[in-house]
Amino acid sequence: MAGAFWCIVEDDRQGNPKKVTAEVLGEAARLAAQAGGQAEAVWLTDKASPEGLALLGEWGAKRVLLVEDPGLAPYRGEVWTPILAELAAKESPRAIFGAVTTRQREALARLAARLGAGLAADSVALTLNGDALTATRPVYAGKLLAKMTWAKGPWLVTLRPNVFKPAEPQAGATAAVDKPAVTIPGEQMKLAERREEVSTGLPELAEAEIVVSGGRGLKGPENFVILEDLAKVIGAAVGASRAAVDAGWRPHRFQIGQTGRTISPKLYLGFGISGAIQHLAGMRTSKVICAINKDPEAPIFKIADYGIVGDLFEVAPLLTKEFKQLLEK
Ligand SMILES: Cc1cc2nc3c(=O)[nH]c(=O)nc-3n(C[C@H](O)[C@H](O)[C@H](O)COP(=O)(O)OP(=O)(O)OC[C@H]3O[C@@H](n4cnc5c(N)ncnc54)[C@H](O)[C@@H]3O)c2cc1C
Repeated sequence: MAGAFWCIVEDDRQGNPKKVTAEVLGEAARLAAQAGGQAEAVWLTDKASPEGLALLGEWGAKRVLLVEDPGLAPYRGEVWTPILAELAAKESPRAIFGAVTTRQREALARLAARLGAGLAADSVALTLNGDALTATRPVYAGKLLAKMTWAKGPWLVTLRPNVFKPAEPQAGATAAVDKPAVTIPGEQMKLAERREEVSTGLPELAEAEIVVSGGRGLKGPENFVILEDLAKVIGAAVGASRAAVDAGWRPHRFQIGQTGRTISPKLYLGFGISGAIQHLAGMRTSKVICAINKDPEAPIFKIADYGIVGDLFEVAPLLTKEFKQLLEK
């Protein structure tokens, strides 16, 4: 529908929308209601489950534009972008929202270039005043917040995970499912090799409500087990500083910061991390920050809500023990 607020669906590659989609769709629905329009979900996938489609309706989509084709997996930006551009040209949405995920941050940037439209990347707030949308986004490694509006539509935005309120599921609400005819571009690149990561059994970094993060202070990859023990007890994801990643202690997908992932958990616990500006860029919007460092002058204490000056090799097991006792009660 012309003038709709679109949410590009981020899924788990198994046919189910991820939690971040509830956040993006919730925001699209909130703004669409204010503008007198409707929220629509656009789902590009090789397989969509009926439960997943039902969920999109419960999260506030009035209509789902489903493009289901085996050629869409694995994700390639040069395949997604022309499809999204074709749909946007046919449908004239007012806004196109996506999430700050590996796939969507690329796809929406490519789409903006194709449409000649503006993109507010990594936004943390959106407000609609009459006919103008204003996006707030952190700049200069999170030191400042910039507000921007668009000279023309469509308004393209990527939304930072864990910042926007997820849509409350409305039992019984359904979305009309349309399967528009689109041209699936031939692939320009072939997949050479695919390696499935072994699941850690812990929550995913970008979506986790609690993140336990380790830096150079851990002294070696074998010591991350101390943080994993704590993470298992409190249901946290484990992240790392670039120093730990560059040393080969953790894969890059766990890196938090300017050249890694941006996270906004309810609680961030940093162990043996000094608090370099490039690390802060990826976690300073966490709701509560707790730093554990043996150096009382470590810069991370300047932005921490709680600080523990001590040796992480003593503090982390103690915290694990205490949380275990508390949570078992
Ligand atoms: C262009 C660019 C991009 C970058 N991008 C990123 C990024 O995305 N993410 C990122 O993290 N960094 C990034 N960096 C690197 C950044 O500048 C820092 O070098 C890095 O964050 C430092 O990691 P660290 O805090 O683990 O290590 P360090 O700065 O070496 O700090 C280790 C800390 O551990 C403490 N410590 C040591 N032993 C213990 C102990 N037993 N108990 C408790 N505390 C202990 C020390 O007191 C120290 O404060 C980037 C740099 C550049 C130039």
